[in-house]
Amino acid sequence: MKKAVKTTCPYCGVGCGVIATVAEDGGVSVRGDPDHPSNYGRLCSKGSALAETIDLDGRLLHPEIGGRQASWDEALDLVAGKFAAAIAEHGPDSVAFYVSGQLLTEDYYVANKLMKGFFGSANIDTNSRLCMSSSVAGHRRAFGADTVPGTYEDLELADLVILTGSNLAWCHPVLYQRVAAAKEKRPGMKIVVIDPRRTMTADVADLHLAIRPDTDVALFAGLFSHLVSNNAVDQNYVAAHTSGFADAFAAAGTVSFGEVLERTGLAAMQLREFYRLFTTTEKVVTCYSQGVNQSSSGTDKVNAILNCHLATGRIGRPGTGPFSLTGQPNAMGGREVGGLANMLAAHMALEDAGDRDRVRRFWGSPVIAEKPGLKAVDLFRAVADGSIKALWIMATNPVVSMPDADAVEAAIRACPFVVVSDVLKETDTTRNAHVLMPSLGWGEKSGTVTNSERRISRQRAFLDAPGEARADWWQLAEVARRMGFAEDFAYAAPSEIFSEHAALSAFENAGSRDFDIGAHAGLAEDAYDGLAPFQWPQPAGRARAETRFFADGGFYHADGKARFVAVEPTETNRTDADHPFTLNTGRIRDQWHTMTRTGKSARLSSHIAEPFAELHPRDAMEIGVGNAGLVEIESPQGRAVVRALITGRQARGSIFAPMHWNDRFAAKARIDAVVPAVTDRFSGQPASKNVAVAARPF
Ligand code: SF4
Repeated sequence: MKKAVKTTCPYCGVGCGVIATVAEDGGVSVRGDPDHPSNYGRLCSKGSALAETIDLDGRLLHPEIGGRQASWDEALDLVAGKFAAAIAEHGPDSVAFYVSGQLLTEDYYVANKLMKGFFGSANIDTNSRLCMSSSVAGHRRAFGADTVPGTYEDLELADLVILTGSNLAWCHPVLYQRVAAAKEKRPGMKIVVIDPRRTMTADVADLHLAIRPDTDVALFAGLFSHLVSNNAVDQNYVAAHTSGFADAFAAAGTVSFGEVLERTGLAAMQLREFYRLFTTTEKVVTCYSQGVNQSSSGTDKVNAILNCHLATGRIGRPGTGPFSLTGQPNAMGGREVGGLANMLAAHMALEDAGDRDRVRRFWGSPVIAEKPGLKAVDLFRAVADGSIKALWIMATNPVVSMPDADAVEAAIRACPFVVVSDVLKETDTTRNAHVLMPSLGWGEKSGTVTNSERRISRQRAFLDAPGEARADWWQLAEVARRMGFAEDFAYAAPSEIFSEHAALSAFENAGSRDFDIGAHAGLAEDAYDGLAPFQWPQPAGRARAETRFFADGGFYHADGKARFVAVEPTETNRTDADHPFTLNTGRIRDQWHTMTRTGKSARLSSHIAEPFAELHPRDAMEIGVGNAGLVEIESPQGRAVVRALITGRQARGSIFAPMHWNDRFAAKARIDAVVPAVTDRFSGQPASKNVAVAARPF
C-alpha cells in the first residue's frame, strides 16, 4: 500500500513542507505540502529532486574503527573510553564536539546537554557559526535575545523589500518565489538588491546597488543619518522603546553622503534613490543573509540595519522589520538548544550565573560549563595546537567548509582521537577519522527543525534505517550511558527529548525569555508524531503562537528596551599587488553544501557541472584566461583550480566562486582552502567573503 508522510526539506533555511510518498515497490516521490505555511506547496529544484538523493550508494552502514568494520558496542565503548580518559587526564576543555545545522533539534539538544551539563565544557560549536552567528550577536546586542521579529508573510506585505547580501533566487528559492509572486500581483512593490555581483535576484530588482564588498556598514550608517536629517525618525517609538539613539547617531552622523559614495562605489543617483525609497516607504522589510554575516564586520552590519528599523519603528508590524535569512535547515533549532559555544540552552545565557544554575538544576547535572567554549575557528586551532585530545564531528564536512581548509584537515589528521558521525563513508573529513559512526539520513530520521521564521516543523521517517545506521541522539546517549550518565540520557524516542527541551524552555520562566515552547512540554509520542508546524514562542496555555515581536516594544534587555548600537565603517580593502582580486564565495542554485547529497542527482548536477570562478571580461583578458579555461585562484592559505566563467555580472577586480565542490568531485576545487580564517570579533563568524587572491591561467 502507498504511504504518504508529511515532512520537511533538509536543505535551506526556508524550511519547506514536503509530502513524501512511498509506492508499493518502494519507489519514493516528493511534492510540496500545500498545507505548510512556509511554502504552501511550492518546492525549488533541490527540494523536488529529494527522491533522487536517497539511494544507499556510498552510505556508511556500519561502525568502523581504523578502517575496519566494528560492532556498535566496540565503537561506543572506545569513544566513551577516549573521551573519559581525555577529561580525566587533561580536563573537560580537552574535548570538543563540532556539530551541524543539519542535525535535528533533538540531536543538538542531547549533544549540548552532554557537553555543557555533564562534561562541564562549552566546547561545542557548529557549522552554524559559519552561517548566521553574526546575526545572533547583532540580535542579542539590539533586542537582548536572538530572535527574528517577523514572518515570511511580511515579505509579501511589504511595499519595499531590501535584500542585502542575499541571492534569494538561488539560496532561498521558495521565499524568492513568494516575493516574486507578490510583486507580480502588486507591481508597485519595490525590490532593492544590495550585492557586489549582479545575481539572478538582482534581475528582478527595481534597484541593484553593486556596493564594494563589506561596505554595508557605511551604506546603512549613511541611511541612519539621512533618516535623522529628513525627519523620518519615529520619535515616539524611539523614546518609548529604545535607548542609545544619541550615541548611534553621533557615530552615523560622521559618515557623510560623500563618504558613503566613496566607500561603496555607488553613483550619487543610486544612493539618493535608495535613501528616498527607505525614507518614504512605511512598510519595509530588510532581509540579510551571508553577504552580511560572513564578514569581519558582520555583527556591525546587522546592527547598522537594525538601527534603521528601530529608528523608524518599522518592526513587528505586518510588512515591516529586519529579517535574518538563515542558511541551513536547522540553524535556528541549534540556536534554541544552545548549540553555539557561547550560548547555553533555551536562549539562556552562558555568562549569566542565574541561567547556568537554572539549567544545571533542570538537568540535574553534576557540573555546568562556566565560560564560553571555543568557536569554530578557534576550536580547530586548538585541535591543531594539541589542546583538544578528543574531537567528535557530526553531520558536517569541515575539511571542505571551514576557512583555511587545508590547515583544518592537517589539524584533524594530527588529533589523537577523532570520531565522525555521518551518512557517507567517504568524505574529505571521514577519511581522517579514527572511528566512524553511521547516522540516519533524511527520510530515515525523526525529529524537529526550525526555519528562518521561527517555525518548528517535524522531519518524519518514511524509510527503514539502512544497515546499522542509528540516530545521532542515540549515539550520544549511548556514549553518555557508558560514561556513567545513564539515567540522565535514558531517552527511548525523540519525542521524549523534544518534550524535555520544551519543558526547559518554560522552566522558571515567567515570560522573561523569548524562547518558550512550554505548550509542548510533556507531549506524548502520538501528539509529537502529529505535531503541526508552529512558530515559537508558544508558552503553556496559549493556543496560538506569537507571529510578530516588538511593535509595542517588549524587548529582552532588563529594561524592556532595544539598544541602538554605535557602528562605524571599517577599512575593508584587503587586496595588494600580489593578490589584486577580491574573492566572494557563495552557493549555486542546485547544489547544497559539500554536495554529499545533491551531487547524487544527475538532474541537479546538469545545472552547473563543474566548479567555476566568475570573472569580469576585462579581468579575464588581462590575466589571459578564456571562457571555460582553467584558472588558478591562490592566496597565502592555499589554492584552487576551477573553470573560468567570464561574465559582465561580475564587477571589475572581483571574483565569485561557489563553496560546494570538494576533492571527491574535482581535484583542487575546495575554495575554502583559499579563504583565510579571519573572523568577526563579536561573533567569531569567519569572513568567507572579501578575500584577497591572485588569479592566473592554469
Ligand atoms: Fe528545500 Fe529550501 Fe528549496 Fe524549500 S527553498 S525546497 S527548503 S531547498
